[in-house]
Amino acid sequence: MVTSLSELNFDNRFTAELPGDPLDLNRPRQVHNAAFSRVQPAATAAPRLLAHSSEALTMLGLDPIVADSNEFLQVISGNATIDAMDPHAACYGGHQFGNWAGQLGDGRAITLGEIVTEAGERHMLQLKGAGPTPYSRTADGLAVLRSSVREFLCSEAMHHLGVPTTRALSLATTGDQVMRDMFYDGRPAFEPGAVVCRVAPSFIRFGSFEIARSREDLDLLRTLADHTITTHFPELGAPSPEVYTEWFAEIARRTADMIVQWQRVGFVHGVMNTDNMSIHGLTIDYGPYGWLEDYDPGWTPNTTDAQHKRYRFGAQPHIGQWNLTQLANAIYPLVENVDALQSALDVYITRFNEEWPTMMAAKLGLGTPNPELDQPLIGDLLDLLPKTEVDMTVFFRSLAEVAVSESESDPDDEALLEPLLGAYYDPALFSGDVRAETLAWLRRYRKRIADEGRPDMDRKKAMNTINPTYVLRNYLAQLAIDDAENGDPALVTELLDVLRNPYDEQPGRERFAEKRPDWARTRAGCSMLSCSS
Ligand code: AMP
Ligand code: MG
Repeated sequence: MVTSLSELNFDNRFTAELPGDPLDLNRPRQVHNAAFSRVQPAATAAPRLLAHSSEALTMLGLDPIVADSNEFLQVISGNATIDAMDPHAACYGGHQFGNWAGQLGDGRAITLGEIVTEAGERHMLQLKGAGPTPYSRTADGLAVLRSSVREFLCSEAMHHLGVPTTRALSLATTGDQVMRDMFYDGRPAFEPGAVVCRVAPSFIRFGSFEIARSREDLDLLRTLADHTITTHFPELGAPSPEVYTEWFAEIARRTADMIVQWQRVGFVHGVMNTDNMSIHGLTIDYGPYGWLEDYDPGWTPNTTDAQHKRYRFGAQPHIGQWNLTQLANAIYPLVENVDALQSALDVYITRFNEEWPTMMAAKLGLGTPNPELDQPLIGDLLDLLPKTEVDMTVFFRSLAEVAVSESESDPDDEALLEPLLGAYYDPALFSGDVRAETLAWLRRYRKRIADEGRPDMDRKKAMNTINPTYVLRNYLAQLAIDDAENGDPALVTELLDVLRNPYDEQPGRERFAEKRPDWARTRAGCSMLSCSS
């Protein structure tokens, strides 16, 4: 443990091994033949630390007292850097909503540097919202408090849920005001500016390779791939066409695992553009994401995607494959073997088709999965849930309460449904055919569990490690934002604390586990979000 940021062991391999922008000019432009541009964070008027993640501090090898230091505040808000850092913005491109968008890059993210911990782990520290870069295009390089609260809380919540993700070290307001047209309706207003310090092994994206390929810059493509493999995938060995293929297969595997986890907890990313896909298989770029409340595979929180719903919950697995296909195209010149790349791409489907049913069986508490029996049971449930408004998180958590081994062989309808009633948004609508089908499904479910002979207590214990009771419900994040905008970060801190243990009942905090209240159904920020941030 070290007691100051300056004592960290910086080893800036990304900027040391890759070509940088020869031009020292912080103005929006196309940057060729370079993986990054050196740029300094912008100074802020009156930074204030609202929250920090003590787990992220520990992960970096920092003593908890560091968070109280002025050095920490100045660095994580962009007002100061440490000599051993090498601040820069990365160049990348991407496919946005299915279309090639050309150069994007870190328009408002500045990576400060890379550290290596005593345990040998490599972490990049990156400020999001720290001022303009050559990649800012027409925007200001800043971030507002509402989107920063959302990124900070969700990064840490996902980590504690067991979903691969970039981390968030800190959330600070800058004291500066930022102009945003939140509803894209021509009524811009000032909002408080904020900066989140993110942490990840690297922020290399699918789009990092796509930009090099789109410009036929094969030197950059190869240098970037070699850097990525030797730094982050050293177990694969020295780069060669076979190793590039193996590396791509590993990205496919990790991406499948990540998306299985999203589907498990009901997370909708909202903007699965290829510039928002990490080559580490980490959830990255928390923008207009959301959590499924009523189980609706057609739902996306992103108003920009409202028409086609390309990135809706139920489409995420397919989009993962589409995005990987773009990465395969980008690295093709390194492999020059379509069949090999296709086989590596198939790893995604194979992996997903193995892991998803296993995950779903675990959500149902099936101790010894039996695909022949379980597939129809799972499929019928997922057909049934969207027929009425039923809260995904509450439903699966409550399913563990359905008594099988410790109850009579066929309870009456009321008794059977009783543990689940809290999950239904409108009891009046939970009637007729839907109710009858749910009862029929529950009887099949009970029979399956009874045949397996797993005691209720064992099943419940297992299910409660898979089905969280606390997730970052959209309206909870919004309540924390409302308070933070009024100068009170207490709810941000409390939610961070609740979400540290998402699988444990926390007496006194039951309200955070309840389904969305009615007022939140249509309120901006609680149900739908624009990309404005
Ligand atoms: P996103 O949809 O947040 O992944 O952003 C897409 C692209 O727009 C990325 O290149 C971002 O860096 C850039 N971008 C988003 N917001 C801003 C902003 N306020 N200032 C500069 N660039 C931005
Ligand atoms: Mg992005």
